[in-house]
Amino acid sequence: MKILKGTSMADGLSSGKAVFITVQEIVIPQDKIDPARAEAELEEARRAFKESKTQLLSVLESGTAESYEQIEIISTHLDILDDPEIKNFVETAITKEYDNAASAVNEVFLSAINHLRSLKNKMMAERATDFDDVRSLILGHLMQMEEDLFKDVDEDTIPIFEEAFPSHISRLKELGINGYIAKHGGYTSHASILSRALKIACVSNIPDLDKYVKEGTPLLLDGESGTVVVDPDSEQLEFFAQKLQIAELIKEKNERLRERENLTKDGDRVLLNLNISLPEELDAVDELNADGVGLFRTEFLFMGRDTLPDEEEQYQTYKKMAEQIAPKPLTIRTFDLGGDKLSDIFESPHEENPNLGNRGIRFMLSHPQMLKAQLRAILRAAVHGNIRIMFPMVADVEDLWELRHKLKQYADELYYEDIPYNDDVQIGTMVEVPSAAINSDLLAQECDFLSIGTNDLVQYTLAVDRGNDQVHRFYIQHHPAVLKLIKMTADSAIKHGKSISVCGEMASIPEYIPILIGMGITELSLNAAAYYKVKQVALNCDAELKETVQNFDFGVSLSGVEHLIYSQLKPYQET
Ligand code: PEP
Ligand code: MG
Repeated sequence: MKILKGTSMADGLSSGKAVFITVQEIVIPQDKIDPARAEAELEEARRAFKESKTQLLSVLESGTAESYEQIEIISTHLDILDDPEIKNFVETAITKEYDNAASAVNEVFLSAINHLRSLKNKMMAERATDFDDVRSLILGHLMQMEEDLFKDVDEDTIPIFEEAFPSHISRLKELGINGYIAKHGGYTSHASILSRALKIACVSNIPDLDKYVKEGTPLLLDGESGTVVVDPDSEQLEFFAQKLQIAELIKEKNERLRERENLTKDGDRVLLNLNISLPEELDAVDELNADGVGLFRTEFLFMGRDTLPDEEEQYQTYKKMAEQIAPKPLTIRTFDLGGDKLSDIFESPHEENPNLGNRGIRFMLSHPQMLKAQLRAILRAAVHGNIRIMFPMVADVEDLWELRHKLKQYADELYYEDIPYNDDVQIGTMVEVPSAAINSDLLAQECDFLSIGTNDLVQYTLAVDRGNDQVHRFYIQHHPAVLKLIKMTADSAIKHGKSISVCGEMASIPEYIPILIGMGITELSLNAAAYYKVKQVALNCDAELKETVQNFDFGVSLSGVEHLIYSQLKPYQET
């Protein structure tokens, strides 16, 4: 028995015998063709592209694609098949270099794949897998390959890939597989996204996998902890059976919880929204029966690409998303670039302290064309659903005035251009800079809602870099100074009749929920993984709790606050 630790890519449990999936390196004929055959060879290539396209379209049309993610990924692959540049390169290779069709397709795709892999950007490199998937698809049609990669895979096996392709994951779903291992793979690769969407557990990047696991080795896979038990003994088998039982019980409990209204014991509504970074995560709103999206981190639209998303592209994205969850709200936060989130697309001057530099709304105000494209796209998309706009890193009410002025100006432009838009959207300010919390009384009067970004609020209040492991122990989210600022912000919003939310990580931590609700916070925006635990705690809260928190003097030491949270409020924290 041996326990191997890798990286968790998708939650879930699975057991079975190891089956190595070896994608045969296709032997591509290298012979040059007779120039007289160029036209016929080109026809062959076109046929293979067309057949590949028909195959993907038939999946879409048959309705067997189960999730939004799967549909999106198929659309990406269709885009690759339709890419005029790729087609041109293939055509040139056949008609000018006299490459045979298979070799032309292979070379053109390999050069795109190598280019993507050479980029510093991790997400771009992960997109190379999509190109590789399409390459195999076209070559399959060109060379009429018969071999079925999955011939040894059944429900009692755990497939092991060198690197999984999205098409592999769809196939695993058809075969009823609950979990697999990828020797290499990133969290944001399409294969991993699809695995999470289709609920197929995955662990990747396990050192020494080949040393301990051979074809047929019995395995227990736990996607949540990212572990694989090799050759389990009876104790491990029993432990795994218990985990399966517990997972089943939690699932049943969550199904019941899903149907309950988000009301505290004393009948107050608490809105439970989700934080998302990718459009693909939107399905979770319906799955969990959440109230909407409280934070869409739009800067992720930049990741994995080398061009800026223009107004039209953003409009299409926001429109599709708003339509999907309407009438539930989609809170779009404008790009929070800079700090730790500077995309590789920008050439930005070096900053000694990027987190205190040109980030968030400062960055956008200094890149007016980007701000304009995003705000216009949001105003246009707001015609199609319930969109709210939220601004990050607002430090002062003057920031808000300037942003409101710009919004009005773009709405006027759209009006004169006769482009449909909706400027009746709620405008929110993130409170994540201490100055915003201290001046929240003024900010609350100038916007429709406040949303507290505790991740940054903690960092800036305590002067602790949120990403620096060396000072991690000083990053105390429940520090009394932070709680005072949260309370101050909540009081300001309540005083002016505005809604008040917390969208930082604190809203995903069950222990902190009673204190936040006790302070009068009525909206939480959290990670999908924490949803049911947080919901259960929110449902436990009552009037007595609120009174305890309201009467608490936050001018105490850390241990005073810890006594309140971990002792007095403990009964409410039951998940
Ligand atoms: C925050 O700072 O709490 C927040 C939600 O924003 P981000 O984590 O994206 O900086
Ligand atoms: Mg933040």
